[in-house]
Amino acid sequence: MDLLNTAGKELSNDEKMFQMIYDMSDSAFLYDNFKEKTVKTAGNWNKFFDVGLHTPEELEKIGHCVEEEYVPQFKEFLFPEKKGIQKENMTVRLRDGRTWLECEAAVIYDKKGSPRDKILRFEDITKFKRQNEELVYLAYYDMLTGLYNRNYFVQLLGRFLQKAEKEGKTVDVMFIDLDDFHRINDGLGIVIGDEVVQQFGQYLSSFAGKDVIVSHFNSDIYCLALYGSHGTEETAQVYREIGERMEKPFVLSGGQVLYITAGIGVASYPEASKNALELINCAEIVMLKGKARGKGSIQYFDKAILKNFLQDIDMENKLKEAVFQRNFTIAFQPQYQADNKRLRGVEALIRWKDKEGNMISPSIFIPIAEKNGTIIPIGTWVMEESVRIFSGWKEKYHPSLILALNISAIQYKRKDFVGSLMGVLGKYRVAPSEVELEITESVLIDDLEEVANKLHVLKEHGFKISLDDFGTGYSSLSYLKGLPIDTLKIDKSFIDTVISDNNTKIITESIIYMVKRLGYETVAEGVETEEQFEYLKSIKCDSIQGYLLGRPMPPEQVENLLKEAAG
Ligand code: C2E
Ligand code: CA
Ligand code: CA
Repeated sequence: MDLLNTAGKELSNDEKMFQMIYDMSDSAFLYDNFKEKTVKTAGNWNKFFDVGLHTPEELEKIGHCVEEEYVPQFKEFLFPEKKGIQKENMTVRLRDGRTWLECEAAVIYDKKGSPRDKILRFEDITKFKRQNEELVYLAYYDMLTGLYNRNYFVQLLGRFLQKAEKEGKTVDVMFIDLDDFHRINDGLGIVIGDEVVQQFGQYLSSFAGKDVIVSHFNSDIYCLALYGSHGTEETAQVYREIGERMEKPFVLSGGQVLYITAGIGVASYPEASKNALELINCAEIVMLKGKARGKGSIQYFDKAILKNFLQDIDMENKLKEAVFQRNFTIAFQPQYQADNKRLRGVEALIRWKDKEGNMISPSIFIPIAEKNGTIIPIGTWVMEESVRIFSGWKEKYHPSLILALNISAIQYKRKDFVGSLMGVLGKYRVAPSEVELEITESVLIDDLEEVANKLHVLKEHGFKISLDDFGTGYSSLSYLKGLPIDTLKIDKSFIDTVISDNNTKIITESIIYMVKRLGYETVAEGVETEEQFEYLKSIKCDSIQGYLLGRPMPPEQVENLLKEAAG
C-alpha cells in the first residue's frame, strides 16, 4: 500500500527508484491511475505480454493474452470495479500454453469509496506449477505404467458406485495378478520385470474408457472397474480378450520373447459389497482362490469363498499369537523295526492347543503357517525343542535312536537352514547322524538341481534324509535316483488298502522291491492292524509306524519306552 501512496504523481521524482525496484523483480507490474486515466507498466512486462498499455481502455488488450478458458475470469480480475467486487488474485496460463502467472491486485479507494489507484502484479509461477503438476501426477498416476494408481482408482471406483446406486446399475471389479511374476523378476532381472509390467499395463489401457477404469496397484497387480456391465457379460468379454492377448508373446526391447498368464478375480457391486475397498478385497480373495486351481484362471465372487477366507484369517491371527506365546507342544510317535520290533526312532509331531482348549491338527495349521511365513518361527521352535528333549533322553538312556523331524519346503529353501540346524545340534550335542529330515516332494519339484546340491550338503554333514508321504505325489522313482535319500516313507493311503486291494498290493510290493534295490530304507506309515503289520513284514518293509504300535505321545511316555528297552 505504501508503494501506491508514494507512487502518486506528486512523488514523481521517486519514480526512478520504483522503476529500479520493478526491474529487479521477476514480476510484471501494471499501475492504473483512475483519476488521471493513465496506465503504466513496469518490470518484466514485455516478457509476458506483447502489448504496450497507456490508457485504461487499452487494458482490454491484455485480456486476450491469456488462454481462452481464462479470458472471462481474467477480465473480471482486470476490471473488478465494474462489477463492484474485488478479486484479489488468480492464476492464468498465457497463450503460449506454457507460462503460468499468478496475478495479484491491490486497489486504493478514495473517501467516497471510488477506486483511486490500482496496481496489478504478475508473477511467473511456471516452475512451481510444473513441480506441483508432478506431485499431482504422482498422487493420481503410477509412474511405471502411466495408469491410475491404487489411491486414485479407489476414488474413481467410489464415484462409479455412487452413480450405480442412483441408476440401479452394477459395477464389476476385476483384480488381475500375473502368474509367476517373481520368476521373471528373479530370473531375468527387475529391468525386464518392469518392462513386462509396462507392456501389460499398456495393453490393459486399451480397455480404458468412460465406463472402464484401468489401474496399476503395484508390482504385477492391476485392477479394472467396469461400470454397468450387463451381468458379467462384458467382464467375461474383457477376460476372453485378455486370454487371447496372452496367447501371443510379449516382445521386449532386448528381443526377449515372453509368454505370460494372469489370475483374475471378479467381485461385483452390489452383490459382493457396496464399499469400494471391500470390493477390491473380495476380488483379490477370489483371484487367490482361482490361482490355487491353476494358471490363467478367472474366478467370480461367491460367498463361500469369503467365508473360508475369513476363517483362515481368524486362524492366521490365532496362529501368530500362538507363535508369540509358544502355545505348542511336541508329540513323538515311535517307529519300530519290522523284523524284531525294536525301537528305530521317533517322529516329532507338533501339537497346538488354542486358547479355548481345542487341539488343532497340524494338517490344518501347517499349510496356513506356510502361507503366512509363521512356519519359520514354528519350525525353528520344533527343531530346537525336540532336539533339546532328545538330548535329555540320550544322556539318561544312551539309546541308539533316530529323531525324525518334519521340514517344510519353506524352511528348507532358506539360506540359513543348514547353519541354524547345525547350531541347534551343536548346542545340545546331538550328532547329525542321529537326525532324519523328513521332506516332501514339494521340496523336490521346484528346482531339482539346487535341491540336490543342498541335499548333498546335508548328507555330507551326516544327516539322514527321508522322503515323506511317498506315493501321494509324482513319486517317480526315476528322478529319485540322483538324490541322496536314505529313507522312503510309504504313505498311509497305500497301507490303508494294501490288504483289501490287489492293485495297491502289487504297487506296494514293487515299490519296496525296487526301493530296496536302490538302497533305500522303507518305513510304512499309518499301520493300524496286525494284519497290515504281518504283511508288510513279509514283503520286507524295514520299519513300521502307526497306531498299532504306538500313537504320537508326550515325551514322558517315550521315556517309559526307553526305560523298558534299556531293561
Ligand atoms: P506326517 O508327517 O505324514 O505325519 C504322520 C501323521 O499321521 C501324523 O498326523 C500322525 O499322527 C498320523 N498317524 C500316524 N500313525 C497313524 C495311524 O496309524 N493312523 C492314523 N489315522 N494316523 C496316523 P499329525 O500329527 O496330525 O500330523 C499331520 C501332518 O502335519 C504331518 O504328516 C506333517 O506333514 C505335518 N506336521 C506335523 N508336525 C510338523 C512339524 O513339526 N513341522 C512340519 N513342517 N510339519 C509337521
Ligand atoms: Ca512326517
Ligand atoms: Ca507322512
